[in-house]
Amino acid sequence: MASVTATPDIEIHGGSFLIEERTPNEVFTPEDFTEQHLLIAKTAEEFADKEIVPNIEKLERKDFTIMRDLVRKAGELGLSGVDIPEQYGGMQLDKVTSALIADRLSKYGSFSATWGAHTCIGTLPIVYFGTQDQKKKYLPGLASGETVGAYALSESSSASDALNCRTRAQLSADGKYYVLNGEKMWITNAGFADVFIVFAKVDGEKFTAFIIERNFPGFAPGNEEHKMGIRGSSTCPLILNDCKVPAENVLGDIGKGHVIAFNVLNVGRFKLGAGCVGSARNCLESAIAYAKQRKAFGKTIADFGLIREKLANMAIGIFVGEAMAYRNVGMMDSAIARLGDHQSDMNKVRKVIDEYAVECSILKVWGSEFLNYVVDEMVQIYGGYGFVEEYPAERIYRDSRVNRIFEGTNEINRLVITGFLLKRAMSGHLPLMSAIKKLLDEVLAGTRDDSTGGDFSEERRLVSNAKKVALFAAGIASQKYMQAIQNEQEIMAAIANMTIETYAMESALLRARKMALHNDGPTSSVSIAATRVYLMDAMERIESAAKTVLAAASDGDDLRQQLAVLRRLCKYELFNRIALRQIVAQRVIESGKFVTA
Ligand SMILES: Cc1cc2nc3c(=O)[nH]c(=O)nc-3n(C[C@H](O)[C@H](O)[C@H](O)COP(=O)(O)OP(=O)(O)OC[C@H]3O[C@@H](n4cnc5c(N)ncnc54)[C@H](O)[C@@H]3O)c2cc1C
Repeated sequence: MASVTATPDIEIHGGSFLIEERTPNEVFTPEDFTEQHLLIAKTAEEFADKEIVPNIEKLERKDFTIMRDLVRKAGELGLSGVDIPEQYGGMQLDKVTSALIADRLSKYGSFSATWGAHTCIGTLPIVYFGTQDQKKKYLPGLASGETVGAYALSESSSASDALNCRTRAQLSADGKYYVLNGEKMWITNAGFADVFIVFAKVDGEKFTAFIIERNFPGFAPGNEEHKMGIRGSSTCPLILNDCKVPAENVLGDIGKGHVIAFNVLNVGRFKLGAGCVGSARNCLESAIAYAKQRKAFGKTIADFGLIREKLANMAIGIFVGEAMAYRNVGMMDSAIARLGDHQSDMNKVRKVIDEYAVECSILKVWGSEFLNYVVDEMVQIYGGYGFVEEYPAERIYRDSRVNRIFEGTNEINRLVITGFLLKRAMSGHLPLMSAIKKLLDEVLAGTRDDSTGGDFSEERRLVSNAKKVALFAAGIASQKYMQAIQNEQEIMAAIANMTIETYAMESALLRARKMALHNDGPTSSVSIAATRVYLMDAMERIESAAKTVLAAASDGDDLRQQLAVLRRLCKYELFNRIALRQIVAQRVIESGKFVTA
């Protein structure tokens, strides 16, 4: 395996960022990209610019011949086989490369959705759970793009609640076939895919995955959906009417389909998050170009403070999003590298990825919501032209919306984040409970020392306090509700929001510190300004979420005492955010694109 990760050999547990402090050199950031990473990134970007973008108009009219051709060309360039072992036609590169390709290909939402469904959820179930024969039969075609993959979990009556599916599978009397009956819904690539991972219940009970080929008898896609966005992608129902599936096409174990269904979503989520950050970078570039040439009141609109503020916020988010995305995959690569001789054992690799399920969900939620913010502001910067089809903002605005719905809705992912952390805390896998207890004892007794010292001391204190606030509020809520906290969805989501922001803050700060350590001198750089603004904004959101949790979990004197602690933890030195945003805006406007220094 050609692993090119630059993170060191330390063991970092998923979710541990809440209770442990990392140093800049313990995380991977875009500044660590190797020449090989940059070469592949360039290949992906050139492919998007030269092959995808010129075809957008035709693709929007659902010319699936072109889409299939693009998937094949991406395969020829090696962009689709990164997660597939070499012996089955892939390249098995590191997860940084996987994320980077998703990031740089993201110039057109419909292609990203098509390619994402093909390379992730349509292919990885076979990579991780297939038998040798299944891998030999299906993976080379999927890697090269000669065949296209799809993943059919959702049904009209159950998608978030996927294990409740109605599709049934029955073994034939001679034991040679499973006969599947049912209907799947909203299946990406269904209009032209060749290989489908389909979930059904054997004997109406045992949730199981099957590999189904398009030409199996009894298998038929339904009509294309008319969608709000990603109109160039194919989304259809699937009809399984006594569909005969050879018994050897059962994927994984009978009754263990849930392991497959949920595991591959982790990769889908980190790639979707990285793709959203890439897409935001493209939007920023387009918005800057427009703002620099559009005139109003005798000036270009890029000279107006309110437009500069929008451009700065986009750039700040991209800085933070990149930091989170590549920190995530860097951690995975380090953990995969520690598998040593077992790096080609795909079962072990997928377990490593599962370790970081919380971080994958964080990136998915944060990335999709950040992109929604960016496209909305892009439309605003384009003004009236933002609202008409001839200009790119209108389509991009529509295309981005689905990211909050698929790969698990953001509501479900928020519940996953808090639920997963609580599960790990209860099982002792992550010593969260002891950290919470220690913190509660200290802060309520007023003995906690909040000082940090050294470089970036104020910023580090902010991040450290953000973690304390998240743990404090989570601790008070879990004391009140115990196990029943799972039923308090608003509290679970507020805890998830604090967790997401904490991870975003720390990732941004570690990146800025790393840049300062290695190559970035002056304190006026974009990285430092972006980090300061994000940290202050995020701390306000965290404080607000903590208040919501505390007020739901406590009252009277207890609540007053807790709010006093919260006020103390949320105090910070107020930097001039307008001036900091101006620094960021000035640099990106001058450069015409996202820059970090
Ligand atoms: C363009 C597109 C492509 C897609 N591609 C695929 C694909 O390739 N394969 C595939 O299998 N599926 C695919 N899907 C389906 C997608 O994964 C589901 O639409 C999604 O998981 C949401 O499920 P649902 O539509 O049934 O909504 P529901 O589950 O009915 O949810 C409706 C609302 O209720 C919320 N909700 C649901 N359960 C809870 C809960 N427990 N707590 C709190 N809130 C909850 C949701 O967050 C959402 O806001 C695609 C969907 C679209 C739109």
